[in-house]
Amino acid sequence: MTNIVIIGAGVGGLTTAAVLARAGLNVLVLEAQVYAGGCAGTFYHQKYRFDAGATVAGGFYPGGPMDLVAHAAGIERWPAHQANPAMVVHLPDGTAVTRWTDERRFSERRNAFGPQSDAFWRWQEQTADALWSLALRLPPWPPQSLSETAQLIKAGLGWLGSDPGQHLNPTLALDAIRPVAAHLAGAPENLRRFVDAQLLIAAQTTSRHANALYGAAALDLPRRGVVHLAGGMGGLAATLAKAVEQNGGQIKYKQTVTRLVMERGRPVAVETNRRKRFPADLVIANLTPWNLAKLMGDSAPRRLRSLPAQPPDGWGAFVTYVGLDATAIPADFTLHHQLIRREPLAEGNTVFMSISPAWDQARAPAGRRAVTLSTHTQLKAWWELYEQDRDAYETRKQVYAERLLDAAATVLPSIHEAAELMMPGTPVTFQRFTQREWGWVGGFPQTNLFRPWAPQLGPGLWLVGDSIFPGQSTAAVALGGMRVAAAVLQEQAVRDRVSQDITRLLPQVMEP
Ligand SMILES: Cc1cc2nc3c(=O)[nH]c(=O)nc-3n(C[C@H](O)[C@H](O)[C@H](O)COP(=O)(O)OP(=O)(O)OC[C@H]3O[C@@H](n4cnc5c(N)ncnc54)[C@H](O)[C@@H]3O)c2cc1C
Repeated sequence: MTNIVIIGAGVGGLTTAAVLARAGLNVLVLEAQVYAGGCAGTFYHQKYRFDAGATVAGGFYPGGPMDLVAHAAGIERWPAHQANPAMVVHLPDGTAVTRWTDERRFSERRNAFGPQSDAFWRWQEQTADALWSLALRLPPWPPQSLSETAQLIKAGLGWLGSDPGQHLNPTLALDAIRPVAAHLAGAPENLRRFVDAQLLIAAQTTSRHANALYGAAALDLPRRGVVHLAGGMGGLAATLAKAVEQNGGQIKYKQTVTRLVMERGRPVAVETNRRKRFPADLVIANLTPWNLAKLMGDSAPRRLRSLPAQPPDGWGAFVTYVGLDATAIPADFTLHHQLIRREPLAEGNTVFMSISPAWDQARAPAGRRAVTLSTHTQLKAWWELYEQDRDAYETRKQVYAERLLDAAATVLPSIHEAAELMMPGTPVTFQRFTQREWGWVGGFPQTNLFRPWAPQLGPGLWLVGDSIFPGQSTAAVALGGMRVAAAVLQEQAVRDRVSQDITRLLPQVMEP
């Protein structure tokens, strides 16, 4: 039986594992940490359960990405509680824009940005509707084989047939090659700023650079509904991990893969820091391309060997985990807030704050709440200071932590006094806990449709996670994981058919 080894129990790796195990394949997941989830994990510290990175969970609506994953992986239900509004976005001039999932969004946006913003939102919602209806047909983009090209054409034709009027819209074709900014010409400054800040978290870049199709779909997350997962975001990975095991797969924690052993251009085994060697006919790496290149050395495929030294325009995250006295939080306070203090965005000028729900008592001691504050940050400066001037690194860490708390204080004025615990984390911390090289997170900024990688890197070698299409976010990496599982299953089916044919034909061929 084919031995499939999946390196990493992030949401991408676990989705692939759960689907493949359900199809009866022999799946082993090796995870460096003691828990699953990676950037979307939840960790314990002093009786708190903090979301490490991701906090906003989307895609759980009927027919949405996580619903499809549940069907494919045999998950009965997610531990998910609907949240409406999805979040509140605070602009520098004090305007607060609530991102409702329902019709209240129309009047909210009109009040905040005026009637001249209607055209932008109409374009965004129509484009997103068209794209999501295509994305949920799971088109294998970019295609890597004849059969994937055929699937892509079939999905595209079905999509066109379902609403030809809208889908043959010439704007859609133009949007494939232009940025979101093309739809913001003459828009009020506050709308542009709002869109930029939302795109930064959803597409890893702002309206001048974000591809219009990606951007429209990314801006749609609040409208499609978000949920709070019991036990924190890690509840998602924990549910997937349970499904892997229930479907007959295995997960081994505290096994950091240190080498991929290749023979004649194919993987044959992986080795771990615990001096274990696991046979592997097929390896699926839930890793960044840079991490995989490091594990493979000279045997890496050309694409991995020709990577630039570092991700050219990727981001790191600076995060502060806060244990908070719950009296600092008003009743009925929305649990997610984006705080835009000034431009340029990032580096503490935009901060995302998520608070554990009051009903989720597993997240914090009685009378306390677990808060995650985060901001985008450049990687280089952190690593230079960490390697050359550890005192300056620690000082910068404190400065950033204060910046994040100051931003949070604009909506929770007593947060400084009510914080009983504060733990800052830099890209160095992210590298330590997720293994991701330089703490690079969020995948490739969504500047064009070809930016994210296709998953197959060579015979028996696949990539899954936020570096492949459709990119970052838990819902997106889960869709990417489904695509990889489908492609692997198809490859296996062809192989099985061929080997059955050979078994059938061999006696005839051998007959004298
Ligand atoms: C600060 C921050 C905020 C975010 N906010 C959101 C949000 O609100 N909503 C949202 O949907 N998304 C959000 N995201 C993005 C989302 O978290 C990621 O896109 C997604 O979780 C990435 O999943 P992945 O499958 O690529 O794997 P990763 O999360 O990168 O996980 C990879 C796993 O592989 C393991 N691993 C790595 N190397 C090895 C090795 N050599 N051996 C064994 N195991 C290894 C790691 O320990 C890890 O568990 C956020 C990300 C960050 C950093």
